[in-house]
Amino acid sequence: MKSITIIVPAHNEEKNIPLTYNELQKVFKSCEGRYVFDILFVNDGSNDKTFEEIEKLANADQNVKYLDFSRNFGKEIATTAALNNCRSDACIMMDADLQHPAELIPEFIKKWEQGAEVVVGVRKENKNVGVAKTVGSAVFYKIINKISEIEIKPNTTDFRLMDKIVVDEFNKFTESNRMTRALIDWLGFKRDYIYFNANERINGDASYSIWKLFKLAINSFVSLSLLPLKVAGLMGLVITFISGVAGFYILFGKYFLHWKFASTFSDSENLAILILFLVGIILMSI
Ligand code: UDP
Ligand code: MG
Repeated sequence: MKSITIIVPAHNEEKNIPLTYNELQKVFKSCEGRYVFDILFVNDGSNDKTFEEIEKLANADQNVKYLDFSRNFGKEIATTAALNNCRSDACIMMDADLQHPAELIPEFIKKWEQGAEVVVGVRKENKNVGVAKTVGSAVFYKIINKISEIEIKPNTTDFRLMDKIVVDEFNKFTESNRMTRALIDWLGFKRDYIYFNANERINGDASYSIWKLFKLAINSFVSLSLLPLKVAGLMGLVITFISGVAGFYILFGKYFLHWKFASTFSDSENLAILILFLVGIILMSI
């Protein structure tokens, strides 16, 4: 029988942990005899009773396992840690807040059995999202698809199944600032999609603030695209060129041609040009 691990990152989800567990049990029942399931919770530095809830389940059910973080590292690191510790034939990642409907898991498995190596959940509508997040994510996908070498489909989520071969490749990444799903997309492999309506969050608040999402977006731009580096290099080139020409003009004009105008530059102005020149070289070297 093939083994499947359900990965659930959790940050302050004390009320949702048992609910998620119950939802998953229903799914496991419906697939009974065909697959061996286990659940891998990651307690991402929660300050409520999330860990106690997970531990309670793990003590009662040997198919419940967990990782417990020393502080809050963020969902990307939580899912990465779980994937690093997953030895099953396939992993399915889902949120702990019941926004990813567990009843779709059999469909993910079906697509996997049909040959897909990554099955990605795509959100049809998210009832819980504000204007800022909607606009922000539209802008994010526009930019990332313009500047990066991979195509990232909008509205794809972390609700996804990955075959063992994909997990093994994923585990070779050493990035510490990461956007898990973008890295998975970068890997390629045969993929298929499942469209779902995201439920409303049952308990607690979404802990991904706009600020956290903004940081995640910047990390993705920087790690998935060479454009920011190229921009720095180009700026260096322009700065070096302009300050180089100016410096040359002043030095040469002052000492060799004895131009009046070249001697009107003060010491601090000359120093500023020298510093600009060196900054340009540093930017180009980067
Ligand atoms: N999460 C996490 N660490 C964090 C923030 C969130 O592990 O620092 C988990 C959270 O418990 C949930 C999932 O990641 O299972 C999605 O988080 P959330 O619901 O806050 O985000 P959204 O639904 O807005 O994507
Ligand atoms: Mg959520």
